[in-house]
Order: sequence, then C-alpha cells, then structure tokens
Amino acid sequence: MHSIPNLELYISKKKIEATVLELADQINKDYGEKKIVVIGILKGAFIFMADLLRHLDLDVEVDFIRLSSYGKNIESCGMVEIGDCSIENIKGRHILIVEDIIDTGLTINALIKYLRSKSPASIKLCTFLDKPSRREVPVEIDYAGIEVPNRFIVGYGMDYNEKYRHLADIFFFKK
Ligand code: 5GP
Repeated sequence: MHSIPNLELYISKKKIEATVLELADQINKDYGEKKIVVIGILKGAFIFMADLLRHLDLDVEVDFIRLSSYGKNIESCGMVEIGDCSIENIKGRHILIVEDIIDTGLTINALIKYLRSKSPASIKLCTFLDKPSRREVPVEIDYAGIEVPNRFIVGYGMDYNEKYRHLADIFFFKK
C-alpha cells in the first residue's frame, strides 16, 4: 500500500478489479452479438478502459477522445471543448462511452450531444465512479461502478496536476 502524504486509501485494487468484472459481465450480456465502438475519454479513463476492454467478449472497435474545458480545439459545446475530430465513422454504430468519473455531468453531456449529431445507432455510458452529489445536469448512466462522496479522488487514471494517475488503488486527495 502507498503511503504518500495527502493521499488516503479509499478503494483497493482488489475492489477495483471486482467492480471492473461486474461491469464487463453486464456489458457482455447486454450487447451480445452486436458490434460496438468503445470510446474512452482521455486522459482519466485510460486505465479503466484498458482493464474493461480485456474483459469484453464482444466484437469491439476502440477509440479515444480528448475533452477539455478550455483550449484550442475544433468543436465546442457549451464550456466543454471536443479536442479530437477523428471520431468520424460512427453513423449507425453502437457506441459505448467509457469515463473515469461523472461529476457535474457537463463534460459527458457535451460529448453525448456531439456524438448524437453523428447519428449513431445507440449511445450508452459506462463510468467507473459516479459522484451524484455534484451533478449540475442530469446524466443517464447505463453502467456505473462505484458511487463516491463529494471528495477529490486520484489514482487509477485520475490525477491531481497530472500526478497520481499511475496508482493502482484509488485515494482521496487531501489538499
Ligand atoms: P464533469 O464534467 O462531470 O464535472 O467532470 C468530469 C471530469 O472531471 C472527469 O472526467 C475527471 O477528469 C474530472 N473529475 C471530476 N471529479 C474528479 C475527481 O474527484 N478527481 C479527479 N482527479 N478528476 C475529477
């Protein structure tokens, strides 16, 4: 176990693995024979995405999209900017978005709006963590791993100033 100042262990690697398996089982059952495009949101979802994908027993294509609240990007939707327009070929496809954590919901709302404009057959959302107490806009989550309180979280892909993403467990960050 890590003992880094400012970090308090919250979710162990073991619990993370069990949760990933449960989510993957559900996704496998729901999609069955359908072909899907799994889109991970960078950077935070990269580790969860890699773990989840290896348990999917489906016909899968993989893509990533980069979102940010500010910056020089191509598409803009409210305060959230979509920084990657390589997501072209999703017309008529089944899309599964993979996110690390849903907080206010603004990011995911903007992305879903953007993807809908490309006429996919369906869009579903999978998030590892859900922080519903912070929600500013309603979000329909199809697959949610663990509900978390209103605390700042790091590890398992999630950062504080680009640090701690590599940690295998999930921690509360004490500023
Ligand atoms: P939302 O638009 O739902 O407010 O924000 C979602 C994004 O904010 C997540 O993808 C994540 O990058 C970031 N975020 C929200 N809450 C946390 C948190 O507790 N810790 C970290 N590291 N990032 C968070």
